[in-house]
Amino acid sequence: RKGVLFKGGVHLENVSGVKVVAFDKTGTLTSGKPKVMDIIALKNITDLELLRVSASIETLSQHPIAKAIVQAANEKNISLERPKELQAIHGLGVHGSLKGIAYKIGKLEMLKDIAIEKEHLQKVDELEEQGKTVIFVAANGQLIGLLSIQDTIRPQAKKVVDELKAMGIKVALLTGDSETTGKAVGKQAGIDEVYAELLPEQKVEAVKKLESRYGKVAMIGDGVNDAPALAAASVGIAMGSGGTDVAMETADIILMADNIENIPFAISLGKRTNRVVKQNVVFAIAVVLTLVTLNFIGGVVNLPEGVVGHEGSTVLVILSGLRLLR
Ligand code: ADP
Ligand code: MG
Repeated sequence: RKGVLFKGGVHLENVSGVKVVAFDKTGTLTSGKPKVMDIIALKNITDLELLRVSASIETLSQHPIAKAIVQAANEKNISLERPKELQAIHGLGVHGSLKGIAYKIGKLEMLKDIAIEKEHLQKVDELEEQGKTVIFVAANGQLIGLLSIQDTIRPQAKKVVDELKAMGIKVALLTGDSETTGKAVGKQAGIDEVYAELLPEQKVEAVKKLESRYGKVAMIGDGVNDAPALAAASVGIAMGSGGTDVAMETADIILMADNIENIPFAISLGKRTNRVVKQNVVFAIAVVLTLVTLNFIGGVVNLPEGVVGHEGSTVLVILSGLRLLR
């Protein structure tokens, strides 16, 4: 009814004992509809040309950042080319070529072999402090420009984080984005435990570390790059409509409507379910013990009464379980 899909009862039970909730940033804590904000051409090309080559290379990538770049080009009615030798590197960016020129688009680590001038790095810091993600564009081993991308944080994010904290749950942010951008976004959402610059396998390590330190971890993510961490966490939660198939396939719980307010709801539903199950077990055993005892002390209950008492308690247990529907 609320758009939360549990792939089995055990996950309802697991989610009730969660001590840490770890959010992915892009597409999970943020709306996943990032926009290109700044286009900064550095070498002798125009801003439009920079956008054209970047968008052409990104046409085949599924990443929200890639979609933002392609959309920015479409809005300006720029016609795109089909790239060759395209290769997506999860958590880093893409490689590809156009007319024999090799392009690399992505985060700084993709361009390790390329020298970047100090003034450009200062510009990068400045953009990142505004919570923007900076994408580097290189052609044949030369930096030709920067694109900044901004994603708006989901309007409910702060409220959800506060609610989780009030339930005594730790909240963390795991992102492949840079430290500065991660911290800026974390601050907006009220999350102070931020793990940045994580490759997909490092997200798994971060989940394991949180688990050994605090206890059960629920990881919430949307991307292909989150799937290993979703699998490693005690409970994996995937975004439904904005999420990738891999994330949904791997997760234990799916938020069908992408509403993160359903995270505290799922946890408290799990807790209530556990409580009702325990009450029911205690009640059912108590009824049986009473009937047996009454039978032995002078046969106070006869057979028909025993049957009615036993089956009656089953009906009461079912009714008690149905309380959860309220
Ligand atoms: P998050 O963990 O925040 O969801 P990802 O792990 O998906 O982020 O990506 C980490 C970083 O890698 C992005 O911030 C971006 O800089 C870079 N990146 C990933 N894919 C692409 C792409 N297709 N084009 C450009 N940059 C990319
Ligand atoms: Mg993501």
